Amino acid sequence: MDKGHSESSRRDPAQLETLFQQGGQVLLASMCESFLERSGQRLAALSASTDPAAMARICHDLKTSCRIVGARHLAQLCETLEYATENGSPPPAGAVQELNEEYLQVRDWLEERLRSPAATAPEEDASDRPEDTNKQPVIALVEDNPDNRLLMSVILGQTYGITEYTSGEKALQGISNSLPDLVLLDVSLPGMDGLDVLKALREDEALVKLPVVALTAHAMHGDRERFLEAGFDEYISKPIVDEQLIFDIIDGLLGRSEQ
Ligand code: MN
Repeated sequence: MDKGHSESSRRDPAQLETLFQQGGQVLLASMCESFLERSGQRLAALSASTDPAAMARICHDLKTSCRIVGARHLAQLCETLEYATENGSPPPAGAVQELNEEYLQVRDWLEERLRSPAATAPEEDASDRPEDTNKQPVIALVEDNPDNRLLMSVILGQTYGITEYTSGEKALQGISNSLPDLVLLDVSLPGMDGLDVLKALREDEALVKLPVVALTAHAMHGDRERFLEAGFDEYISKPIVDEQLIFDIIDGLLGRSEQ
């Protein structure tokens, strides 16, 4: 029965409980169901693909979603395969099969957790954040990964107004019509990427001082310096699991912009 210990290095049950704590059983179930549905599709596409660049993109998306639900080992396998294929090389022998096998284990694990809704949630972190619903700052969230949009809107939605955009093109149009207080901008977007969007925002005189935070799942040495150099105000790696960090960054930038 007690397989928690042997599983803990491959999977992160605490991550599921974080989702439970952040949004209750409804969020937990939504995230897990969304993850399972999309992962099945992604793995089928991965298995059918012979194009290394397409495989790298699939692995990137899958990795981001794996981290949200705490599928730690599967996320590592995705990252390894992403890096192996992103320069155009074919995948190492057996790598795709290993991903598929690990996914089946993760699926069983998540389904088991979903069948036990009364599992103990960790104690509430003394959440001393005042909820000023009268005057909530508005954050534009530009993110193509639906799992990440859902997670972010649950974490941030109590404290800020959130306007979601699924692409850079839609964000540019929306932001110029309705100015937010801050932008959270995914760097890896299909079509216009985050750097293109930032450049377009900064070319608009009305938006020069708008705080823009880079979001990326592709943590590389020197990223932070590179993104700040490019004109972002801050940099956050995904998924957002440390709520305090993102609140500190957002509140810091909002405070600064009010000066
Ligand atoms: Mn993305």
